[in-house]
Amino acid sequence: MQGIYSHIFSPSTLNELLTIKNQNPDAVIWSGGTGLMGKQKRKIPVLPGNIIQISKIMELKKIRRTERYLEIGAGASINKILNVGQHVLPNALAQAMKLIKPSTIRNMATLGGHLCMPDIRLNLFSVMILMDVSLELKKAGGSRWIQLNRFFNKNGEIQLKNTEILTRIRIPFGNWNWELFKSDGNPFSDAGHAISFCVLAEIQKGIINNYRMAIGNAGKHTVRNIEMESLLIGKKLPLSVKESTSVMEKYKEWLKSQTMELSPFQRDRTIRFFYWILKELLP
Ligand SMILES: Cc1cc2nc3c(=O)[nH]c(=O)nc-3n(C[C@H](O)[C@H](O)[C@H](O)COP(=O)(O)OP(=O)(O)OC[C@H]3O[C@@H](n4cnc5c(N)ncnc54)[C@H](O)[C@@H]3O)c2cc1C
Repeated sequence: MQGIYSHIFSPSTLNELLTIKNQNPDAVIWSGGTGLMGKQKRKIPVLPGNIIQISKIMELKKIRRTERYLEIGAGASINKILNVGQHVLPNALAQAMKLIKPSTIRNMATLGGHLCMPDIRLNLFSVMILMDVSLELKKAGGSRWIQLNRFFNKNGEIQLKNTEILTRIRIPFGNWNWELFKSDGNPFSDAGHAISFCVLAEIQKGIINNYRMAIGNAGKHTVRNIEMESLLIGKKLPLSVKESTSVMEKYKEWLKSQTMELSPFQRDRTIRFFYWILKELLP
């Protein structure tokens, strides 16, 4: 029976962690614990079998910056990332992090835990999926890097072997100079109403050189559609009313053909978001 016979490991180095995970592949990684425990309604919470608590491992909390990217340890809390990275975090990512509420949760919730939730893609996905983020996965005796968009397969299942740990998250600096993030509802507690949107664009001399857009619905998928993005790439700003009406029609058609499950509320918010973006690009 889960919980009754739980053993809690508490390694203080990464090597120790990898050895323990190798010997106990079914043990659950406990980072901030908010995702693991946040939905429990019982007064005495049930622990998920054997646990490996990773909060003592300083190597997993490091944040460093190079010229090309920001590298964040999987065990760094969201508030620590916001503090340390306040001058270098891309705006849309900082905005998405600040919208993880209540703010006290951000002291405990870690970036690694956020990305490793098996059944739900939380708010940071719709930003990070656009940023060519890569993840370092380590196990005893080996490591590999994987792009965030390959971390989940077509069915939304996490591609993490049971002896592997997410250790570092690398976020390249892009040339984005137009970033928007919006979310509605809480993906953790109110999945039917939660929706998040992100747009990253590079606009030079009034021309949209690059444009990316993603939508997340707190389900197992975050959707990016390159065909829809290409409707705006190369366009001169401001868009004419005719151009923006035509883009809007195509967005709506695309939304109708989407297999991503959206409640009427989420669908309504998505259309409003499309209008909002196009309004921003009009004179
Ligand atoms: C009250 C509340 C409000 C919230 N509000 C929001 C919100 O507004 N917006 C939002 O987007 N989210 C929200 N969340 C969700 C929150 O963002 C996640 O719970 C959190 O990011 C998970 O991080 P954690 O460190 O607590 O993960 P944990 O609970 O420790 O772990 C989550 C999962 O990841 C695995 N895991 C953790 N770290 C690793 C690792 N390094 N390697 C491999 N596997 C790992 C664990 O085994 C577990 O399966 C909320 C949660 C709560 C409880």
